[in-house]
This record gives sequence, structure tokens and C-alpha cells, in this order.
Amino acid sequence: MSALETLIRAEIAATGPMPLERYMGLCLGHPEHGYYMAKPAIGAAGDFTTAPEVSQMFGEIVGAVLAHAWQAMGSPAPVRLVELGPGRATLMLDILRTFRVLPDLLAALDIHMVETSPRLRAAQEYRLKEHGFTATWHDTIDEVPSGPMLLVANEFFDALPVRQRVRRGASWRARMVSIGDDDRLAFIDGPEVPATDIPEPLRDAAEGTVLEDCPAAREIAGRIGGRLARDPGVALIVDYGYREPAHGDSLQALREKKFADPLQDPGMADLTAHVDFTALAASATTEGSKAWGPIAQGTFLTSLGIGLRAERLRASGADAQDLTHALERLTGAGGMGTLFKVMALTAPDLPAPPPFGTA
Ligand code: SAH
Repeated sequence: MSALETLIRAEIAATGPMPLERYMGLCLGHPEHGYYMAKPAIGAAGDFTTAPEVSQMFGEIVGAVLAHAWQAMGSPAPVRLVELGPGRATLMLDILRTFRVLPDLLAALDIHMVETSPRLRAAQEYRLKEHGFTATWHDTIDEVPSGPMLLVANEFFDALPVRQRVRRGASWRARMVSIGDDDRLAFIDGPEVPATDIPEPLRDAAEGTVLEDCPAAREIAGRIGGRLARDPGVALIVDYGYREPAHGDSLQALREKKFADPLQDPGMADLTAHVDFTALAASATTEGSKAWGPIAQGTFLTSLGIGLRAERLRASGADAQDLTHALERLTGAGGMGTLFKVMALTAPDLPAPPPFGTA
């Protein structure tokens, strides 16, 4: 039994079944045994691979959009370059390499990383240093100083804990984690949720319908929106998810690139849930920013010339087969092209960053 499972069982024994949101929060973020604290395994050899780990082309295109936005903002200096959940810092380094064509932008940068995992912080610091960059690390976005901002978050929001409510008879029940008759961790129906907590159109949903939402994601999107209402800036949010609400249970566990049981070996697998872009946009715009998209990652990258970028890399000697594979993975419907989406948030007086105005 994993060390975290022992702790979770002790908590259930002491205080009763645990809300799913707390279970997911512990699995990912327990200070000692949480997945991102103890065993973050991102990349080719890890539990999951992200777009920046597939190819440098992803970060180069994101970098180009941010650089363009900086110019549209009137090239402010200093400007905060903020990343939420930077993983191995691969995306940040690809963005910074793109910025080299704009020495004024490089000189204006003040880099802030929002990262809770000490292990990943150390890895990020090491890799940034290798390339001559320094940054400041924070536990939450609230600690990042105010001012003009370029923000990026790739596969960050999917790692925030979700809650679920299940339709049972004429009521809604909170989904909880408990210990089943077979002595394994099990999902159970918890206390009744007041109908007023359920969005009006869904209150009479069919038996067994699962409603999932992510309070932490909405809160952070609201913080970003509030910042963009006060200072010029743009935020690019990339993740796998959907536009339509009420999509049901999307909680999944990934271990060594295979789907696993989210209740098996807590803390040993990456747990994620689909991102509700409509909810993020609503939180951000309520706080005063504008929201653009989301558009499919494939559309985003293709409209911004990822094909041309691949041609250039091929011409300069990169392996043609690797490039074709990476392109397909990043933009194809069988890879991340359709499921992954990109949303931009901007200060209210800024134009839509490309390609949102046209897509
Ligand atoms: N953006 C990277 C890594 C994605 S994995 C990439 O694309 O490769 C998720 C990242 O978010 C990890 O760095 C993880 O440690 C971090 N993270 C997860 N929950 C967090 C939280 N609540 N606050 C800050 N960082 C968090």
C-alpha cells in the first residue's frame, strides 16, 4: 500500500468518507507523498508527455504569440513573464529562445514561475540557469507582483482537484471516497447537495448523471482576469477539455502512459480531469478581462504556421520522420490537435491575439 493510501485510510477512519476534491488534492499535492511532490514524471520516459515535450515547435509558436502581444501592449518594461505549472521548464526555455529576436523584450523580462513541487522547482531552476536565466518561484499566482504580464499555462488547469455530484433519485449527492466492503478504496455517494448548488438547466438530469467542476480552476482564472483588468497583458491557457458544460465524469489516472484506476496506489499516478473552458472564461470575464476561444490546438498551431516551422527545421537538418511525427501528434485529431484547446485572456482594451481574431 502506498504511504499516501495509509494516510488517506487513517483520515477516513477518523472523520468519515472524504470528498473527491480532497482525495484528488492529496494525491497530487500532499506535501510529502503527493504525485507532483514525490514522483513527477513528465516527458518521453515518464507517466505522461506534454506538448512542449513533444517538440520545440509548440513553445516557439506560443513564444511568437506572446512576443506579438507584448508589442501590441506598447512594449512595456518591465514585463512579467509568468508560467503556471512549468513542469521541466521546457516550454519556458522554448519561449525564451524565441524572444532572442527581440533584445528589448529579453531585457524587459521579469520571470515568475508558479510551482508547488520543490522537486520540479529545483529542476526548473537548474535548466533556466544552464541557459543564463533566473526567475522567482511562487506557490500561487497571488504572490506574483502586479504589472504588465505575459502568462502561459500548459496542462496546469487539468491538475487541479475537481468535485463531482451524482444524480440519485430526486436529489444530488457529493461523490466521496471511502473504504468498500472488500477493504479497497471505493467511490460512494455522500451527503445531499442542495439543488441551488446545481446549475438550473441540469437540476432534473437523468439518474446517475455526474456533474464535475473545479472550484480551484475557476478561482485562478478569476485571479488572472482581475490582473488583466488592472494591467495590460495576455494569458494563454492550453489544456485538454471542452466548451460544453455537463460532460460527466472525466477523472483519469495515468501511469507510465497507461490509464490506471484513480483509486489504486494514490500518489503514484498522475490524476487529471478535463478542463471546463466555459467556466474559466466566465470567471475571468466576470473579473474584467476579455476571453478569446477556446480553439482547437491543431487550428491554433496550424494557423500560426507550424507547418512552415517544421519545413525550416527539416531544412536545417532535423530528422524528417521525427518532425512529421511531432506535427501529427501536436495538430492531428488522433493526437492532441482536437482534444486540446487554446484560450486567450487579455486586458479589455487589447485586440485578440493571433489567430483568435480570425479563427
Ligand atoms: N506545463 C508543463 C507541466 C504540466 S504538469 C508541461 O506542459 O510540460 C503540471 C504542472 O503543474 C507541474 O509542474 C506541477 O507540479 C504543477 N502544479 C500542479 N498543481 C499545482 C498547483 N496547485 N499550483 C502550482 N503548480 C501546480
